[in-house]
Amino acid sequence: MNILVINCGSSSLKYQLIDSGTEEVLAKGLCERIGIDGSVLTHTPAGKDKVKIETPMPNHTVAVKLVIDALTDAEHGVVKSLDEINAVGHRVVHGGEKFASSVVINDEVLGAIEECNDLAPLHNPANLIGINSCREIMPDVPMVAVFDTAFHQTMPEKAYLYGLPYEYYEKYKIRRYGFHGTSHDYVSARAAEILGKTRDTLKIIVCHLGNGGSVSAVDHGKCVDTSMGLTPLEGIIMGTRSGSIDPAICDFICQKEHLTSAEMNSILNKKSGVLGMSKVSSDFRDIEAAANDGNTLAEVTLDAFYYSVAKYIGAYAAAMNGVDAIAFTAGVGENNVLGRAEIAKYLGYLGTEIDAEKNNVRGEDRVISTDESKVALLCVPTNEELAIARQTASLVK
Ligand code: ADP
Repeated sequence: MNILVINCGSSSLKYQLIDSGTEEVLAKGLCERIGIDGSVLTHTPAGKDKVKIETPMPNHTVAVKLVIDALTDAEHGVVKSLDEINAVGHRVVHGGEKFASSVVINDEVLGAIEECNDLAPLHNPANLIGINSCREIMPDVPMVAVFDTAFHQTMPEKAYLYGLPYEYYEKYKIRRYGFHGTSHDYVSARAAEILGKTRDTLKIIVCHLGNGGSVSAVDHGKCVDTSMGLTPLEGIIMGTRSGSIDPAICDFICQKEHLTSAEMNSILNKKSGVLGMSKVSSDFRDIEAAANDGNTLAEVTLDAFYYSVAKYIGAYAAAMNGVDAIAFTAGVGENNVLGRAEIAKYLGYLGTEIDAEKNNVRGEDRVISTDESKVALLCVPTNEELAIARQTASLVK
């Protein structure tokens, strides 16, 4: 079965066509600047050269049409016609409390996703536009929504309730939801597989460290806590996001700098994290290079980042009363050899021992701890598209 995986943003659309039988990526690509001048589609068919198609994309429906044309094109296409696209899997950021797993999309589901728009005003409306555009172009193809929040719906009340008046939960559903759920689910299952065990026998901590980052506690296959909250702003220090801070800081800065709450929110999301701290970049490679050149602010920023991750690992070892495996994933987690080693330095009390040689790995599945280590440390590349394709295939069979 060929599954088209769609990840739709407000002005972009990423896609992969995956053969769910062989799990091979047949083609992937990206539409950028949708609705803005200079729209471009970059299409990469497996085994063939990348093609760039610069043509106006006034809206997402036009973008989806161009993607289908590219996938079925005589020259750089990978299937003969639309008939060979058997289902579409859509990444949806927020499923609120309504969705604890992926679902086949129908009108009722669309309405329920729309009701979650309030909780993710930047993401969900864009995801819905992507779904509606695909339905317009491919009305007979079954579609599935895969939610970033779904895997975390198993968290108990003590983990998802904030220390706020309960009425805000009752009125507005203000609680911890967590994000990157598809990745935490995939990576925890994969970590167990690499260890030759099943996930329901293990206590696993997943550190998804990308531009955005989150840590989760997966106890016998179920998420029991995660660092992101109502929004993806909470938790560890990230590329441009502050992560957890004293909430009173917002009012303090707003008063001193004469900012509105929207401006403050934007600073916390876009100008904070390692970018704001280091004054160098949001890219960990740039910060590492600066630190190597003697930039002490860059050095302190990296220390603060590793420390923030290590503290969550400690918290989640406590939450699960132990930990069997800690998996590192996403851009930084998969590639930053030094970062994993620095985080591991904080974990000696768990009986954890990283193996410097095994840790010298980038973007590959591997156990990176010594044979004697009481807790297994792993590098596990995430693959959210494959996870979405698998869930889509299992629901439309
Ligand atoms: P997202 O999906 O959240 O945008 P990614 O998972 O792609 O993010 O991760 C992006 C981050 O990964 C960047 O900050 C980049 O610096 C980091 N990264 C990628 N390769 C390396 C590397 N070799 N060493 C350190 N960091 C890396």
